[in-house]
Amino acid sequence: MLAGTCHCGAIRIEVPTPPEVATVCNCSSCRRLGALWSYYKVGTVKITGHPEHTDAYVWGDRTLRTVRCRHCGCVTHWEPLESKPDGHMAVNVRNFDPLEIDNLRIRRFDGAVTWKYLE
Ligand SMILES: [Zn+2]
Repeated sequence: MLAGTCHCGAIRIEVPTPPEVATVCNCSSCRRLGALWSYYKVGTVKITGHPEHTDAYVWGDRTLRTVRCRHCGCVTHWEPLESKPDGHMAVNVRNFDPLEIDNLRIRRFDGAVTWKYLE
């Protein structure tokens, strides 16, 4: 288990296992957020303070919502709008202690054009 919070602490994110890989995406939304995404199965991540302290943003093909703390503005995760078996969500691991994510393998995803990993 590993936990992190948004800057003000209203949102707490608890993942079942520390992330080993994180994705940087260059799509029009992610590049602005500067998020580092690690993926988990829906239901395995415990997020407290959500949705009572969060706002969400939906765009494009409207399959997911990007969630941020409504007090401090930090983006905490994205989650699918429709739940389905084996659905995944992503946690913004920038909310974890930097020492905890020091050894992450970073993968670059070309969400802007090819929708493929750049490696
Ligand atoms: Zn906050």
